[in-house]
Amino acid sequence: MSDLIARRRNLLGPNVSTFYDDPVHIVRGEGVWLWDADGRRYLDCYNNVPHVGHCNPRVVDAICTQARTLNTHTRYLHEGILDYVARLTATFEDPLKTAILTCTGSEANDIALRMAEAMTGKRGIVATDATYHGNTTLVSHLSRSNVPEVGFGLGENFRHVEAPDSYRIDDPDGQRFAEKVQQAIDDLEGADIGFAALIVCPLFLNEGFPDQREGWLRPAAEVVRRAGGILICDEVQSGFARCGHHFWAHQKQGVVPDVVTMGKPMGNGHPVAGLVTNAEIMERFRNSFRYFNTFGGNPVSCAAAMAVLEEIEEKHLQANALRIGILAKERLAALARKYEVIGDVRQSGMVFGAEFVLDRATKEPAIAYADRVVNAMRDRGILLSKLGRHKNTLKIRPPMPFAEEHLDLLIETLDDVMATTEVRR
Ligand code: PMP
Repeated sequence: MSDLIARRRNLLGPNVSTFYDDPVHIVRGEGVWLWDADGRRYLDCYNNVPHVGHCNPRVVDAICTQARTLNTHTRYLHEGILDYVARLTATFEDPLKTAILTCTGSEANDIALRMAEAMTGKRGIVATDATYHGNTTLVSHLSRSNVPEVGFGLGENFRHVEAPDSYRIDDPDGQRFAEKVQQAIDDLEGADIGFAALIVCPLFLNEGFPDQREGWLRPAAEVVRRAGGILICDEVQSGFARCGHHFWAHQKQGVVPDVVTMGKPMGNGHPVAGLVTNAEIMERFRNSFRYFNTFGGNPVSCAAAMAVLEEIEEKHLQANALRIGILAKERLAALARKYEVIGDVRQSGMVFGAEFVLDRATKEPAIAYADRVVNAMRDRGILLSKLGRHKNTLKIRPPMPFAEEHLDLLIETLDDVMATTEVRR
């Protein structure tokens, strides 16, 4: 193991992060299970990339069959991309019926920002202050979790507003958030940059998936439209039925975005991502920039992505996310009655977790405790993580076939770990 860590550092450079104090060396996956090099099995409660399960046979077969037939760049006619985009856009409301396919979520967000400039002639972008949207030069300026030291001086075009936090900030209908967005817009206009777009993950998953009523984003969307900007929803994490109630999380938020970006789960690990928008934006963008992506939407990517959509539908994975999410919240709430350190329990379909605090009255984040729990769970064969505005929230976001028996094992192990983990700074 130490040999692999040293090689990784020497060959890939410093600061290439791994999960856990004792990183895991995974060699095989199946469904919700992973195996390490010593043959030890782990329950995967965190990976959203293998959305329909690790090494899903339908996806693997689709990739292999297409790879055996044809894979090439995207300048030839091919039904694969058309059949896929037709099926993908059928999951969206009007007028979101055209798509661009890319290889990463970062590229998709990069295009979305350029679409905003093409539509408005302005460059000011508003995002939330504890999120991550990707790694291109432009998009990296959106992220506050990894503030870039270099970035071609584009930073002046970005403004960050406080992300929602249902446990600490009273904003039941999104009005306060909309006011913050309005202030950021005024600031951009006053600085002669102008306002082009608001970009958010509709469930604020990197920020700790706050509880929100249906329609919570509507006031912010109205502010954006009134100011002549566009609304971009980054559904790289929240999309493809994960939230359970809907196929896309913005549908829960009661808004129709101008652009929706997606990635991670789209090809179940095969690098395919993209965005969906309306005809007007697509035309304006295509005419202002003749976008070409060598690999984005190639026949193999589209075969993988199509198999993911089929699998979600045929295995009723959206309904599973809804059911397991509700059960998970109940089970976590039962733990909260036992352990004072759980300050809040939240859930949004197949994303759920608990916020750890040192004191329920002050809500002081129990960051080191959260770290210890995550590492102890790893040692017990359960993989999960923590994040959020205060870096103290367990984030549990398993592959979508996660079932009740897996939830039982997760909760029993968490109970054991919490019983033996000291609450201290
Ligand atoms: N948006 C969100 C919400 C993400 O979580 C991520 C990846 N963590 C990205 C965009 C970037 O996607 P990619 O790594 O595929 O470029």
